[in-house]
Amino acid sequence: MPSQDVISAAEELRNGGVVAFPTETVYGLGADVTNHAAVLRVFALKGRPAHNPLIVHVADESMATTVAGHWPEAAKALARSFWPGPLSIVVEKAELIPPVVTAGGSTVCVRCPLHPTALALIEETARPLVGPSANPSGGVSPTTAAHVRSAFPDLTVLDGGPCQIGIESTVVRFTDDGIEILRPGAICAENIEQATGLKATLFSHKGLERTLQSPGLLSKHYAPTTRTRIVFGDELLTVDLNRAVVLTQFDDPDIPHKIVMPTDAHGYAARLYDALRSADELQVDEIIIVAPTGDGPPGVWLAIADRISRASATDENGEP
Ligand code: AMP
Ligand code: MG
Repeated sequence: MPSQDVISAAEELRNGGVVAFPTETVYGLGADVTNHAAVLRVFALKGRPAHNPLIVHVADESMATTVAGHWPEAAKALARSFWPGPLSIVVEKAELIPPVVTAGGSTVCVRCPLHPTALALIEETARPLVGPSANPSGGVSPTTAAHVRSAFPDLTVLDGGPCQIGIESTVVRFTDDGIEILRPGAICAENIEQATGLKATLFSHKGLERTLQSPGLLSKHYAPTTRTRIVFGDELLTVDLNRAVVLTQFDDPDIPHKIVMPTDAHGYAARLYDALRSADELQVDEIIIVAPTGDGPPGVWLAIADRISRASATDENGEP
């Protein structure tokens, strides 16, 4: 039996409302995928550009086949290996998905989240839900209910505790000769190759092509408002430490304002967005991220590198 909170949130969703819900990656802004007005409200709340498509969240593989026009063998293999879990799969879309969800495109990105509250909510609503990260577009994704409430105080937020993975899902699509990873995440190329027997490569096209293929991959994203820089090794010596807060894996007594980060990849990822938010609140001149290393899968470090490089990217005007 779902909790009363989930039952009323599902009712709100069925009535065309927007509800924030926890997943294992980050918190999402949920709306009924088939309700055009509700989906538009998600875009409006986030200030998300209409050309950036949303991920559709399903309760299981069978619901995924209702949003997909075609569900290939490789998708079956991925769903069976990694769902529920932090993997989003781009496939041809079904008629039922309104174009607003896919930014007018013919493909849809679908995932089944590994969180009991998310699964209960989708099941109780009995519809697939859009679920972009519950933050204003371009900002740092929320990993606690409090993060969501700080941006959207009037919204219903289901509290599922801190997110276990803490960075967004891996996004993949199929090509003629294998699988392309459009966004790296906790599920890595090696995991994907093992599950499918197909070659998995990181999508690396730059500039316009990259933007058109997966608009959320714009280089500046996941960014705090404070200027953010990555430093390597001795470069830290050149930083004015009195005016900066440093994300470092070593508890160095010479750094006055610091957030000490975990040394393992999964721990680092789970802590990253909360650390960036706390650093932002200190209102110093700069956030310095000491380039992290440590134990854990190289693919997860790659996903972390992707997020911190976007958190520290400058836009086309050179502004942070
Ligand atoms: P978010 O839900 O905000 O974490 O971001 C969703 C990500 O999935 C963005 O990077 C989108 O560009 C990507 N995405 C969603 N739908 C598609 C699609 N049909 N094809 C390619 N990428 C997609
Ligand atoms: Mg997002």
